[in-house]
Amino acid sequence: MTRESVTGTPAPSGAMCCRCKQWTYAPVEVGYHERPSGPGVTLYACPSHAVAMTPGPMPGERTRRP
Ligand SMILES: [Zn+2]
Repeated sequence: MTRESVTGTPAPSGAMCCRCKQWTYAPVEVGYHERPSGPGVTLYACPSHAVAMTPGPMPGERTRRP
């Protein structure tokens, strides 16, 4: 038995920015994309893009004015 079989694969230290497609080591969760045939995908952005992006749909922001 190897050590990897006990601890599992290490979590990746970072994520790909959904805006610039660059790998960032300080990802910020900016949204969640649901898929009908599988688990959803969490969207991440790099810090510089996260501040410019609005967070995912919030309960109070879904109402549209006519
Ligand atoms: Zn980015």
